[in-house]
Amino acid sequence: MNVYDSDKVSALLLCSGMSKVEELDDADVVVLNTCHVREKAKHKVYTELGYLRERKEARFAEGKPFIIAVGGCVAQAEGAKMLERAPFVDIVFGPHTYNELPNMIRSVRKPTDDGDHVALETAHLEIFFKNKRPRLLNIGFSSEDKYKSLPFLNVEKKSAYLAIQEGCDKFCTYCVVPHTRGREVSRDAQAIIQEAKSMAASGVCEITLLGQNVNSYRYEDVSEKWLFADLIRAVCEIDGIKRVFYTSSHPVDVTLDLIKAHAELPQLMPFWHLPVQSGSTNVLRAMNRHYSVDDYKRTVDNIRKYNPDIAMCSDFIVGFPGEDDEAFEQTLELVRYVNYAQAFSFKYSPRPNTVACDLPDQVDDSVKAERLARLQSLLREQQTQFNTNCIGQTLSVLFQKHGKCSNQVLGKSQFMQSVVLHTPNPEMYMNSIRNVFITGATLSCLEGRIVN
Ligand code: SF4
Repeated sequence: MNVYDSDKVSALLLCSGMSKVEELDDADVVVLNTCHVREKAKHKVYTELGYLRERKEARFAEGKPFIIAVGGCVAQAEGAKMLERAPFVDIVFGPHTYNELPNMIRSVRKPTDDGDHVALETAHLEIFFKNKRPRLLNIGFSSEDKYKSLPFLNVEKKSAYLAIQEGCDKFCTYCVVPHTRGREVSRDAQAIIQEAKSMAASGVCEITLLGQNVNSYRYEDVSEKWLFADLIRAVCEIDGIKRVFYTSSHPVDVTLDLIKAHAELPQLMPFWHLPVQSGSTNVLRAMNRHYSVDDYKRTVDNIRKYNPDIAMCSDFIVGFPGEDDEAFEQTLELVRYVNYAQAFSFKYSPRPNTVACDLPDQVDDSVKAERLARLQSLLREQQTQFNTNCIGQTLSVLFQKHGKCSNQVLGKSQFMQSVVLHTPNPEMYMNSIRNVFITGATLSCLEGRIVN
């Protein structure tokens, strides 16, 4: 979602007459887009800001401007605290207000006493002053559909993200998303389809539908009612769209229609990111995940009944408060049961203002580290096995990147694996979907040769 937001911010700034520079030293404006999901991310933001402060002082000494804008979920959560802690930051804005960034930048460019700064009409905007310079805090949850004012620029890439839903109503007890991204809002289905058509017209062939809780998508107007599977079917019908992925889905919002869509639509890729977080029903209850381990297993069984070859992927949190040895062993059991093709696993870290911060039985960090190592070892084993099983198969690969060596081109399979092709002519395969016969596999990569 942050990559998508950053692309949109870039497009907005380009449309407002700004241009991109290659070197930080040449920039008049720097925008940081931030993530608040894990604790380390916040520290990284302030470390980065310390570096930008030095740049700003150097630029000011040369009489050049240097506007620092911080957006995203850390900005949303920190708010005025960020303006206090980093007094050289000019603009703090949240994920709901970045459509107003060009106006905010225009506004802070001019000192207030020349009477020429742009008037901003936003209910949530607060203006602070430092040396007569306005500093803006814009972290409201705008009711206006921000997507209406976001431009789509023709891109050279063949794959693109498309946000369809934002925010979350699930309130898992460890998660900051409902506090930073707000309550769940689904975009107008016709606007999404229009955007997907514009992408296809500019050459995009792979779309990843995005949402914090993407499969809870639900849009209704006077004449139509859309659920997630309906939207997927409509996107898959668009001429030129050959591959559709989505992320992230929630187990309780998996419908039979969505499962069947995977079996029926060749454009819908056989990869399902279905975060479970823990293999203990007690821990899941404490996490407020709204399902039991048996519910999750039944969902996976049903997905596989209709789609035997699908690659399953999950997220895991180890060391959640109250997770004892038995609960952790149950997580390992579940991993063995599902047999994942990929996974993302982390130690639990308390996030501000979440219920889990105050839960009893917090787990010692050394125990978390030991459990994470065991879990990741099992997950690596399964991923390596999944990749090894692909040797001898022909996969469909979208090539879009150069490799480290000049004779390599990198792509992504229908199962989201990285695939490397050795060829004297990488450009010939760049930005195309090819059938690749897989000849080798490691934990993180496959290699193969083109099948004509
Ligand atoms: S469903 Fe996902 S985004 Fe929503 S609160 Fe839970 S972890 Fe956070």
